[in-house]
Amino acid sequence: MNFLNWRTEAELRQIITDESLDYDIRIKAEEERLRRKYPSCKIPGCHSIAKTTWATVPVCECHKATLTTEQLDYYAEVIKKGERTLIYTIGPYLPWKRGAAWPGQGSACI
Ligand SMILES: [Zn+2]
Repeated sequence: MNFLNWRTEAELRQIITDESLDYDIRIKAEEERLRRKYPSCKIPGCHSIAKTTWATVPVCECHKATLTTEQLDYYAEVIKKGERTLIYTIGPYLPWKRGAAWPGQGSACI
């Protein structure tokens, strides 16, 4: 359980700037503040903060770079469609896949 969960934004900022506190506590407070501000990366197994998007899907900077490389390799015919592994992991979140991926929530594409 994270004891910083119930802290307000102002309290978190106070912890972050209080130099008398332990460095680890201040880092954890900053992580909690960022977690509230940004969604988490949608790549399965990645718990990084998503400060950017790829095809409107929140992803971290590292995975965006990998997805972009994968896309460029695909269009340059360096890799084939089936070798684009990372994009399939965020398939359910892609706007053009939502209708098919979440049939229980109704189809977005009629
Ligand atoms: Zn990520």
